[in-house]
Amino acid sequence: MRDQFNRDLNYLRVSITDRCNLRCAYCMPEEGVEHMPHDELLSYEELYTVIDEFVKLGVKKLRITGGEPLVRKDVVNFIEKVASLKQLNDIAMTTNGIGLVELAEPLKKAGLHRVNISLDTLNPERYKYITRGGDLNIVLKGILIAKEVGLKIKINCVVNKGINDDEIGQFIQLTDTWGVDVRFIELMPIGQNIKYAQDHFYSNELIIKQFPDLIPVIAEDPSSPARYYQLEGAKGKVGLISPLSCNFCAYCNRLRLTPDGKLKPCLHSDIEIDLKNALRNNQDILPLILQSYEIKPEKHLLDEHKMIVRQMSQIGG
Ligand code: SAM
Ligand code: SF4
Repeated sequence: MRDQFNRDLNYLRVSITDRCNLRCAYCMPEEGVEHMPHDELLSYEELYTVIDEFVKLGVKKLRITGGEPLVRKDVVNFIEKVASLKQLNDIAMTTNGIGLVELAEPLKKAGLHRVNISLDTLNPERYKYITRGGDLNIVLKGILIAKEVGLKIKINCVVNKGINDDEIGQFIQLTDTWGVDVRFIELMPIGQNIKYAQDHFYSNELIIKQFPDLIPVIAEDPSSPARYYQLEGAKGKVGLISPLSCNFCAYCNRLRLTPDGKLKPCLHSDIEIDLKNALRNNQDILPLILQSYEIKPEKHLLDEHKMIVRQMSQIGG
């Protein structure tokens, strides 16, 4: 189904928790964020009801995210339930990868197709620093297992100037050695991280200048926020996701659901539609969902310095 700017909104991103087992410096303040009370989070039944309604409206692609989606109990059963919606042809998850050692195989069996794994450094000490305590080896092991069980993998790397920008070349090489797509995401000013994001912003345009051996690749999917490049002979591609230096709103096909049941037509806008209230009062959610198609903004206002209030972990990246 299309919005007023003729964009086919066929992609739903659902954040199932605001909890996380890491506290990445660019995503959360050092002291962490106050958690939403448990009864504020949508139950799996409520999440399923919303997803089912979207599927009836033509959503074909679903991404489960968080916070860290793998820390929510019974996530495998939930994936199995949504995988029963046969109109969904792409069920993906964004994860920090910590839980994959244990869960990659059951998730694949439950019907998950793909995982985007966030990995910002290949140096264990630096990983600990960026994530405030994480263990890189667990993630690397999880990536191996996910590959072995047949999950499709992409690596997401947020470049932080002065912290991991010296590893860009190594990450580009992974498209050859690991044969996976590696996507560099520009650091965005969101929630309380505005000063950090300003101090550490690294434009993807610099990557193109620094690595002239990257060959542009024709986009397979125009709604993808990434522009793709490739090293000659490498199996994987290098994707550049540049919400700041290259606005891709005209092709945006996505809507987001927060863990507390707010429908967000745009990541970078504070506009939210409360589905939880309607769900818990036995009201029809369809009119509210249709409203999100009507009010999705034409474009974000990041370049006009209009920042949103929620933290990234409370929305779902
Ligand atoms: N915990 C999971 C993970 O890290 O993959 C899923 C949630 S996380 C909020 C989703 C993605 O958003 C991650 O790839 C993360 O690196 C990215 N992210 C978080 N804060 C960001 C920011 N300020 N700018 C750009 N990307 C950000
Ligand atoms: Fe957690 Fe993901 Fe945010 Fe890192 S980026 S703190 S792993 S939600």
